Amino acid sequence: MFLSLVDSLRCPKVHAETWLVASIERLDDRDIVEGVLGCPECLAEYRIHDGVVEFGGGVRPPFTAPTEHDALRLAAALDLTDARMTAVLHGTWGACAPIIAGISPAHLLLVNPPAGIVSGDGVSIVAGEIVRFASASMSAAALDTTATAEQIAATRAAVRGGGRIVGPVGLEMPGDLAELARDEDIWIGQVPAGTISQPVMPARRSK
Ligand SMILES: [Zn+2]
Repeated sequence: MFLSLVDSLRCPKVHAETWLVASIERLDDRDIVEGVLGCPECLAEYRIHDGVVEFGGGVRPPFTAPTEHDALRLAAALDLTDARMTAVLHGTWGACAPIIAGISPAHLLLVNPPAGIVSGDGVSIVAGEIVRFASASMSAAALDTTATAEQIAATRAAVRGGGRIVGPVGLEMPGDLAELARDEDIWIGQVPAGTISQPVMPARRSK
């Protein structure tokens, strides 16, 4: 778990939004390998073990090796060109992380990646039934078909205005995104510019 990314994680429990406090037991360069994240609001503690933040639950899918073409296409779809960028990759997309990390300076935050994918060198891993992030703290995200409606909403709220969200055609694109591209496999949506904080309430329309 990349140290700087701890600021972007939120307690998965439903209560007033607050950052988490890291107790570090073992640090490798700037990655927390062993430690605990504590919530000052509800006092829950979440273990970091082998670099993986464990929020409780969360199924890690079996690993299927992606082709280099798939990984490069995902990196291009997410427009990962800047070292200051952080992209969330859900589930099976995490299998592309080792290839993308080799060609992109962006940091990758994997949510429930396939077993066998390890953290470090630009790749951070969180596992959990629901993973929440600070609003507008992420540059881009890739969703997969295992993402629950709650996880999709939490991830959507984490991507800042102008950022891209990619998903498989089997998953409906969040309705407020502007569709940039679509092929037989994936869609690419863009979060409206100026969107900040607060999770999106689907039923509410301004104007
Ligand atoms: Zn909490």
